[in-house]
Amino acid sequence: MPPIHYTVRFPFPHLHYAELEARFPVEGKKELELFLAVWTPGSYLIREYARHVECLAARTDRGEQLSAIKTRKNRWRISSPQALDEIIISYRLYCKELSVRTNFVDESFALLVGAATFLNIVNDFSRPFIVTLELPSHWSASCSGLPGTGNVFSAPNYDTLIDCPILAGNPVTQSFTVEQKEHLLVNVGDTALWDLPQVVGDVARIVREHAALWQTGLPYDRYLFLNLLTGGGGGLEHMNSVVMMTDRLAPRTRDSYIGWLDLVSHEFFHVWNVKRLRPAELGPFDYENEVYTSNLWIAEGFTEYYGLLAVRRSGLTTDEEFLGSNRPAGKETATGSLSGLIERLQTTPGRLQQPLALASFDAWIKLYRPDENSINSSISYYVKGPVIAWLLDARIRSATAGARSLDDVMRAAYARFSGPIGFAEGDFLAIIQEVSATDMKDWLQSLAHGTDELDYGDALNWFGLRFKPSAPPGTPTKAWTGFATKTEAGRLMVTQVPRNTPAWDAGVSVDDEILGIDGYRVRPDQWEQRMEQYRPLEEISILVSRRERLLDVTLRLAAEPLRAWLLELDPGASEVQRQHFSSWVGALASTLASVGELI
Ligand SMILES: [Zn+2]
Repeated sequence: MPPIHYTVRFPFPHLHYAELEARFPVEGKKELELFLAVWTPGSYLIREYARHVECLAARTDRGEQLSAIKTRKNRWRISSPQALDEIIISYRLYCKELSVRTNFVDESFALLVGAATFLNIVNDFSRPFIVTLELPSHWSASCSGLPGTGNVFSAPNYDTLIDCPILAGNPVTQSFTVEQKEHLLVNVGDTALWDLPQVVGDVARIVREHAALWQTGLPYDRYLFLNLLTGGGGGLEHMNSVVMMTDRLAPRTRDSYIGWLDLVSHEFFHVWNVKRLRPAELGPFDYENEVYTSNLWIAEGFTEYYGLLAVRRSGLTTDEEFLGSNRPAGKETATGSLSGLIERLQTTPGRLQQPLALASFDAWIKLYRPDENSINSSISYYVKGPVIAWLLDARIRSATAGARSLDDVMRAAYARFSGPIGFAEGDFLAIIQEVSATDMKDWLQSLAHGTDELDYGDALNWFGLRFKPSAPPGTPTKAWTGFATKTEAGRLMVTQVPRNTPAWDAGVSVDDEILGIDGYRVRPDQWEQRMEQYRPLEEISILVSRRERLLDVTLRLAAEPLRAWLLELDPGASEVQRQHFSSWVGALASTLASVGELI
């Protein structure tokens, strides 16, 4: 089949435009219907990429203009009075949304996300593509998971084209080899604070640790970590690459560097879980409509669990950093730790409203479209999913006296359901039962579809862990309203009212402006100090402005809940429990080659 040829130019990159020209072979037809995807796999939101298309025009190879009529928000029908061999389409794309799943172009670099960029023929997914980039003279290179030389790439079909973002500019690239496969760390932005040989060594350790878990060999020829030091955050997984965003300052603090390693690890686990072992619904994709699955808690939740665990197993974090027990009792947990996930789960009232499977199904309208009430109405599968994975891991280990683990479940699921077949929830749960040789059907059902509080007792007991006592007895408790605020244009505004807090019970509303307490004015900068002057159980009257009306709201203060979710090794843990812990967090990869050998 003759390929569709794309040429991408950047005549005015500082204005955030890319110009595209596509030559579609039409084999003697008079009509061609084209579409642009409305979402991109891995990110479950209708993004309406077509809103950035401008000046779409069609012509013959002799330059005769053809009619191009829009038939839907994201479709165009091209018509010709006579039969043609080829139709040439040109359009401009506005590229100024800096995220891992949208296009961005400026004078320094371009990130082209396939779904947001390339038009395709409706209902025709099998044609090959050739993409040629014409770079501004001050850009040195482009790269992609697609094969290619210079700035010309090819894709065997549309799905592959969409799954291989293209990065162009002046990247700083380091390469390393694991299991004879080439890996590239491609950095865009200011790398002055990045000790790249050290960083590459750390990434290689993560790659080796995941490879040791899956035992399938690395299932690609070459892999690219596209690391955009642009500020912002997040990652989006692809078949042989990942786009990650972070801050150029990330290596400056231990916490932010661990956060980046966790991101690398999470995204790399997707090489297997999601990109090759996936819920049956997630491929082949309908790029023009929502694709619903109830299994993102496995696809994303388990990936988050193994993301953190592999960083620990590879020796890049300590037990304390992995658990989160390096924080003082009563203080906020580290986000990239098991404690951080548990605390977020246990302080989100929505956990008692929305089952995990439904959180996955509704990702399109809830997780990806959060609002001020999300904390009350929903739970993230990125938060509850990994906690469930941990409980499952512990249950399997204890049911098999330590002989099997969730690692065995992942390997068995891969052996049976990777590739085009995909898995249904029942398939995955059946493997868990098989590996553990235990009937846990009802428990699994409640984890995925229930909203009951989780019981951590068995997992703590197996691994010899405990939640750190949060405060010594007799420590005075702070008065607490439960609502969150921000200062906006000098006004103290309520931003969140979690369910079952004093503020919720009193009817405080998001967007209320706090003006005073008990008959006296309170300015934004005085709020915290004023609260410290009250005691739990006291009743206060808060003067608020609600849509310009002045109201008194009577609120009975409560005691601020103790932060009681910091995991730590139980000082009284037995030798057997300590062994369980070590075999859980211990390295799977054999002795690591030195960094020097890897690069
Ligand atoms: Zn993910």
